[in-house]
Amino acid sequence: MDIAKLLNGADVANALNSKIINEVEALKTVGVSPTLAILRVGEKPEDISYEKSVMKRCATTGVGVKSVALRADAAQEELKQIIYDLNCDGNVHGVLIFRPLPKSLDESAACAALDTAKDVDGITKESLAGVFTGSGKGFAPCTAQACVEILDHYKIGCEGKRTAVIGRSLVVGKPVAVMLIDKNATVTVCHTRTPDMPAITRDADIIISAVGKPEFLTKDYFSPGQIVIDVGINWSEEKSKLCGDVRFEDAARVVAAITPVPGGVGTVTTSVLVMHVINAAKIGAFA
Ligand code: NAP
Repeated sequence: MDIAKLLNGADVANALNSKIINEVEALKTVGVSPTLAILRVGEKPEDISYEKSVMKRCATTGVGVKSVALRADAAQEELKQIIYDLNCDGNVHGVLIFRPLPKSLDESAACAALDTAKDVDGITKESLAGVFTGSGKGFAPCTAQACVEILDHYKIGCEGKRTAVIGRSLVVGKPVAVMLIDKNATVTVCHTRTPDMPAITRDADIIISAVGKPEFLTKDYFSPGQIVIDVGINWSEEKSKLCGDVRFEDAARVVAAITPVPGGVGTVTTSVLVMHVINAAKIGAFA
């Protein structure tokens, strides 16, 4: 039995990292040391784990990091002041704010306080407007862009392809749907009110899944020849391990190519974030 080709996140990330390293060197020759600020509120294990992987990626590519951590019970004013300080700090080119913030804080006010020029994770309305209008302003949400980078790296054309995106969050589903429409795909966005989702996904050439449910997509969802990008990062109680939205062993027997979890979209997302920091630094340096 044929097994699907693995769309390995590390291969895509390595290609991006090589470009980043060259860009960092070029920026340093003109006296700019690209730097990311990471703003974390509280001590959530998933935030700390993502922070470590971002710091590692910055270290290997020569990008500076400034970490700011607030207590989980921090006041809104304190958060606002920190964001203001980072906006004004000329040595900081991009800011990553871990979300969701604790419920006691107003997340939309925090997002709105961030300078769009430093919004390397596409959380401000202005950045999202850039994605949705195609104006090229601001930065796309990193995970949505990571899906596109994977397709581009493996030279998977989207033009005219029926594409099913599962999920409609502003972090992944909606922006990736628009980014694929811009690549001339014919996109169907599925969510909790979508009837007979397996019929839609089986009919698609490309499936992008951002459901957030462990191994939700079983063999009924797939058909031969498909490309599957699994964005989900979920904890499976059943298997006591991280897994995607896709039941990998079901899909891999049927489809043409698939991203693994871990080692797929998440790996690329970190490099996309660092690439955005470089681009923000370049815009600042050559404006
Ligand atoms: P989210 O905000 O919870 O959105 C989930 C989406 O899936 C919603 O639009 C929801 O529909 C839809 N959905 C949920 N259950 C469904 C069902 N039974 N049938 C059809 N649609 C369903 O999640 P998110 O922030 O987009 O994240 C999605 C997944 O991606 C999570 O596993 C997250 O951990 C992962 N993630 C990975 C990365 C990465 O770098 N790899 C980054 C961010 C997120 P409704 O809108 O109708 O509720």
